[in-house]
Amino acid sequence: MKITDVQASVIGRPEPDSGGSVWTFVRVYTDEGITGTGECNSGGPGFSGFATKQAILALRELLIGEDPFNINRIYEKLRRAGRYGGASNAPLIFALTGIDNALHDIVGKALGVPVYQLLGGKFRDDIRLYADCHFGEDESPASFGDKALRAVDEGFGAVKFDVDFTGHGKLDAWNWTLGAQEMTHVIGLIEAVREAIGFEVDLAIDCHGHFDLPSAITLARAVEPLRLLWLEEPLPAENVAALAQVRAATSTIICTGENQYTRFEFLELFARQACDVIMPDLAKAGGIAEGKRIADLADAHYIPIAPHNVSSPLGMMAACHVMAAVPNFLFLEFHARSIPWWSDLCDGEKPFVRDGVMTVSQAPGIGVELNDEVARSLLWNGDSYFD
Ligand code: MG
Repeated sequence: MKITDVQASVIGRPEPDSGGSVWTFVRVYTDEGITGTGECNSGGPGFSGFATKQAILALRELLIGEDPFNINRIYEKLRRAGRYGGASNAPLIFALTGIDNALHDIVGKALGVPVYQLLGGKFRDDIRLYADCHFGEDESPASFGDKALRAVDEGFGAVKFDVDFTGHGKLDAWNWTLGAQEMTHVIGLIEAVREAIGFEVDLAIDCHGHFDLPSAITLARAVEPLRLLWLEEPLPAENVAALAQVRAATSTIICTGENQYTRFEFLELFARQACDVIMPDLAKAGGIAEGKRIADLADAHYIPIAPHNVSSPLGMMAACHVMAAVPNFLFLEFHARSIPWWSDLCDGEKPFVRDGVMTVSQAPGIGVELNDEVARSLLWNGDSYFD
C-alpha cells in the first residue's frame, strides 16, 4: 500500500466554555482506496487557525509514496526532518500528531481491527471521563458548587474547575502573586465544590500556569485536606525545576503536561520529579503511538495518565484507544458539554458520551468519521473541505 495524497481541513466554531472548538483534520489517501482521518490541535488563540494545516501540507511530499503500515518509521522520518525547525514544538508536532492518527486509522481499516488492537489490546472497555466545568455561572462559591452537582447528576465521577482569572484582589494584570484577598477567594471556591460533591466524587483544580512559585506552594498546602485528584499547572509549563519545588513542598497531587510534547519532554518531568500525574493532550503531544510511549514511560515511574482533551468525537476516540491500551489510565477530560453540535460533527456509535464514560469503538480504525455535511457547514474561516 502506498500513500498517494495528504490533505487537511480546519473545522469548527468557537464556543464558550469549550476549551477550544476549532480543529485541524488530516486525511491521508492510499492507492488501495482506503483513507484515514486524524485530528490535531489547530493552535491556541495566538495562532491564526491555519498554522497546523500549513505544517501538514509542508510534510506532504515526504509522505507520498510511503507505505502507511510503517507508522513509526514515517513518524521518525517526519520528526527528524523537522528537528532543526522546532520538531518538538507547535505547529510541527501538532501536524505529526494528526498524520500519525490518520495512519493508525488506515492500518486499522486495512486489517479490519480497532486501533487499540494495534497497541496490544485493551485493559478496559469504557474510558472514565471527568467533566471540565470551567467556572461557576458567577464568581460565587455557591455557583461553583451548583455547577459541579449538575455534572455529577449527568454521571461524571470527577469534575474539574478553573480558579485562575477570578480577578478578586489581583495586584495587576501581569503579576502572578495571589495576595491575601485573592488567595482566600480561590481557596473558598475549591472548598465550596468539595462541600457540594462530598468525597465520593473526585475533584481536580486547574490554575493554567497563572500563579507564581510562592503562591503555588501556599495554595497547594492550603487545600491539602480537600484531597484533590490533582492541582493542575500551578506554574507555567516552561520551568520544570520550579514545578518540582511545588511538588516537594506539598502532599497535594501536582499535575502537568498539556503543554509538554513528545516522550522527551515527559522524560524531563519524571527525571526532575516535577509531578504526580501527567495530562498530555493526545491531539498535540505526538499522536497515538507517541501517546502510548508517554503513558508507558509514566507507568515505569508509577505515575498515572489523565489526558487533557478538547477534541471532537474523532480525536477523543483516538485518545480512548490509547487509554484503553495502558494500565495507568486515570481519567480523560470531557470539555464539550457546552458545544451543541459536538456529536453531530461525527458519525459513529452514539451517544459518544453517556453516564460519564466513552466506550472504546470496536469498528476498524479509530471508528469515528467526520459527517461530511455537518463538517462542510463548519469550515473555519473560509477553508475548503477535502476533495
Ligand atoms: Mg489545563
